[in-house]
Amino acid sequence: MKNKLIWVASIALLWGCQKENLESPENQEVQRVTPLKEVKAAGTIGSGVMMQAFYWNVPSGGNWWNTVKSKVSSWSNVGFDAIWLPPANKALNGASSMGYDPYDYYDFGNFNQKGSTETRFGSKSELKSLINTAHNNNLSVIADIVINHNSGGDSEFNIFTNSNTYTDYSGASGLFNRTAYDFHPNDYHSNDSGIFGGFADMCHHKAYVQDWLWKRSNSVAKYYKNEMGFDGWRFDYVKGFEPWVVKEWKKAVGGFTVGELWDGNAATLDWWAGAANASAFDFACYYKMRDAFEGNNLNALNGDMLWKRGASKAVTFVANHDTDEIINGKLLAYAYILTHEGYPTVFYRDYEDWLDKNKMNNLIWIHNNKASGSTSVLHVDNDEYVAQRNGNPGLVVYINNSNSWKERWVPVKWRGKRIKDFTGNSNWEPVTQSNGWVKIQAPPKSYSVWSQK
Ligand code: ZN
Ligand code: ZN
Ligand code: ZN
Repeated sequence: MKNKLIWVASIALLWGCQKENLESPENQEVQRVTPLKEVKAAGTIGSGVMMQAFYWNVPSGGNWWNTVKSKVSSWSNVGFDAIWLPPANKALNGASSMGYDPYDYYDFGNFNQKGSTETRFGSKSELKSLINTAHNNNLSVIADIVINHNSGGDSEFNIFTNSNTYTDYSGASGLFNRTAYDFHPNDYHSNDSGIFGGFADMCHHKAYVQDWLWKRSNSVAKYYKNEMGFDGWRFDYVKGFEPWVVKEWKKAVGGFTVGELWDGNAATLDWWAGAANASAFDFACYYKMRDAFEGNNLNALNGDMLWKRGASKAVTFVANHDTDEIINGKLLAYAYILTHEGYPTVFYRDYEDWLDKNKMNNLIWIHNNKASGSTSVLHVDNDEYVAQRNGNPGLVVYINNSNSWKERWVPVKWRGKRIKDFTGNSNWEPVTQSNGWVKIQAPPKSYSVWSQK
């Protein structure tokens, strides 16, 4: 590293920016441990668009980190600001696991255990190379954190169940060994808010577990941040433990944080986001979009969603590795989340394999350049939806879920100004009236997005 001072300043700037947008003041002093010198600053998470950089059962063989690495510069160029990676830890099923059955949090594909050295996605050095390449391209990297449950422990006699349980975790890394005392039931209590299948359910109430997860200098959280270079956190299955766990983790290491609370109730998501001091995936928005686009009733978009309760706490998405039910109107759903409030996520397969990449890039550009300010719904019925972003420059999105062209007079924020459709789907360039009324149009099963020319 040529100039350590500039580099330290850029790290400080990075965390400063994140704090300004997404952190509370109490998380100001997040950067105590000096990161390795190759860890470079990335862009602010939440200003652009997040890429979910995997899907269920991506190709095995240890090449996924390299596949993602080959794409980060093109993703950065079109306006993504962060990538979310699958769990990087060695898991029960070794080289075939997607990582959601974690065994050794400090084995990133560099210890020969569970049948392989590399994980399904590759080696530790390949992962670090991917993270560095992402940072060099101004992309932040979000780690998938699975701490509700573990899998792959050895059998031991468990005094709390008076039987043998698979709760002996002594992985090859030698770090964060666990026993029956660290799972439920134990000497503290018999359970927490939820278990996942038959997996060993970790107890975050135990001081030893807290110490290893986020407190000590080589805790999982600090190792992922300082040694590996992760910038943010996606917490898996947060129904399985209390929200203070996420809050404490974030207090220890800062960074953008989002929880997977799989629940369509916007009030529940809002409660969790507040209690965890984190963002949440907007499952309420997801299910309303499913009703709107698969159920062919755009009135559903008027329903309660997390982003309507607090846009800075909402991470919106159309599909993910677990659920992908919006099939017919998928591009329309992307037009919805990429023009509305909340931090939108694009699913890898939709972007790379299934949808029109040029249309996705156009919507991402619109998100990053036009979609600002609060939201007003200008019209909604079963097959048409028109909403305005009231900021500067702002936009008007017109979604048409019918089989024919639609046109409609709407009152917009521009007065006597020429506007145009930045998707190119309509070639109209109308001038708004002095009272803001204007006639706009949208093609069948498509959308248009209007802003001042
Ligand atoms: Zn517990
Ligand atoms: Zn999940
Ligand atoms: Zn649990």
